[in-house]
Amino acid sequence: MNQRNNRRLVLFPGPIQGHINPMLQLAQILHDRGFSITILHTDLNSPDPSPHPSFAFRSIGDGLGQSEASTSDIVRLIMLLNARCAAPFEERLREEVSSQDAPVTCLIADALFSFARDVAERAGVRTMVLRTGGATAFRVFAGFRLLRERGYLPIAESRLEDPVPEFPPLRVKDLPRVNTGEPELFDRILNDRIEGIKDSSGLILNTFEDLEQPALSLLRQEYPIVVFPIGPFHKCGPCSSGSFLAEDRSCISWLDKQAPNSVVYVSFGSIASVNESEFSEIALGLADSQQPFLWVVRPGSVRGSELVENLPGCFLEALEERGKIVKWAPQHEVLAHRAVGAFWTHNGWNSTLESISEGVPMICMPCFSDQNVNARFVSDVWRVGVHLNNGLERRKIAEAIRKLLVEKEGEEVRERAAQFKEKANSCLMQGGSSFQSLDGLANHILSFEL
Ligand code: UDP
Repeated sequence: MNQRNNRRLVLFPGPIQGHINPMLQLAQILHDRGFSITILHTDLNSPDPSPHPSFAFRSIGDGLGQSEASTSDIVRLIMLLNARCAAPFEERLREEVSSQDAPVTCLIADALFSFARDVAERAGVRTMVLRTGGATAFRVFAGFRLLRERGYLPIAESRLEDPVPEFPPLRVKDLPRVNTGEPELFDRILNDRIEGIKDSSGLILNTFEDLEQPALSLLRQEYPIVVFPIGPFHKCGPCSSGSFLAEDRSCISWLDKQAPNSVVYVSFGSIASVNESEFSEIALGLADSQQPFLWVVRPGSVRGSELVENLPGCFLEALEERGKIVKWAPQHEVLAHRAVGAFWTHNGWNSTLESISEGVPMICMPCFSDQNVNARFVSDVWRVGVHLNNGLERRKIAEAIRKLLVEKEGEEVRERAAQFKEKANSCLMQGGSSFQSLDGLANHILSFEL
């Protein structure tokens, strides 16, 4: 048995699609480096173990009632998880520590759990933290208190266009929108989460130096901890899906029949939703664009009826002629497909990074949390996408799609997106920044005393 097989890592993902995916990818990356993996997970959205036969999965029991176990109000869910999971997590972790399996070298916890580091310390285990968002957005969340003190938060409608010089080029409208009736409780949990990261044995990020170098270098100055940007995780090697919904693979054979770079892929992730009139406007915009489209209409993603048959007739004709709708797509494969030339996204961090890694320009429609920050960086800093400003309107949607897919005007955006794909690929190659950072992470973990 080599040194690493004898080292077990316990990973504790947050029960949200955009958090489970990168944690399982990280587990695979570390397993490929020889570490044994145990996943502790909540009952809510428990991952399917079958695609990961080499990992041990253990449920902690989250104590959430049926009405509480939902991602429809994400802020409330995070607060509930932090209130309910500490005790069962501690019990489970102590069982793992005293088990006959390989000794637990380290806990890798999702940053959304504010209690994880303290609990692990009591159990005699070192903690590293995985932040599933970008480095830039992390700095903004860590600056929440300052943003409140300086009057940027809560967001005032009269100040939406004001710049936020502390985080250029953000404007007030780009700051994370957090809807909660309990702002003080939210701030306390957020603060504990940030402090937990500061006191941890290191921070792992799903990003890469060439993408977020300025934010990473500020983070290193501001935090007395080691930071490991080892992304994009999903490109580090083959990784199995962690999807909660079944992936509809028929869209891949449909894509096979489309011309290169002709299709706009539309998906707003696992939580965001639109109302019925927005649903209809999206459909009309797709129809007006005259381009082929692949649209993910996730169950529950329309507040109201999501019946496609009720959409306007001109859309139904376009769907028949050059469109495809699925409930859930194999997104990595879709974005890597030669037919896909643009991604209309809500700019969740995973989707944003997946698009950047495949060189697919984005149409940005951020909804909440860090999505506005990500979208602003996509359009104004990396300049690999366009914003759908001022609400949804069919003509503007069609214009944005055509700009990215066919118009000369979109050429520079397409070129920059292709350059980022190169950068994402080269950071993972031997000697690349993420490759080296991963070496550093593995050695860092091996340096922990058992
Ligand atoms: N995803 C997928 N199929 C879909 C839509 C999304 O596999 O049809 C995946 C996507 O690849 C990403 C995750 O779901 O890894 C969504 O995470 P993201 O951070 O983009 O958004 P969230 O769901 O957290 O808002």
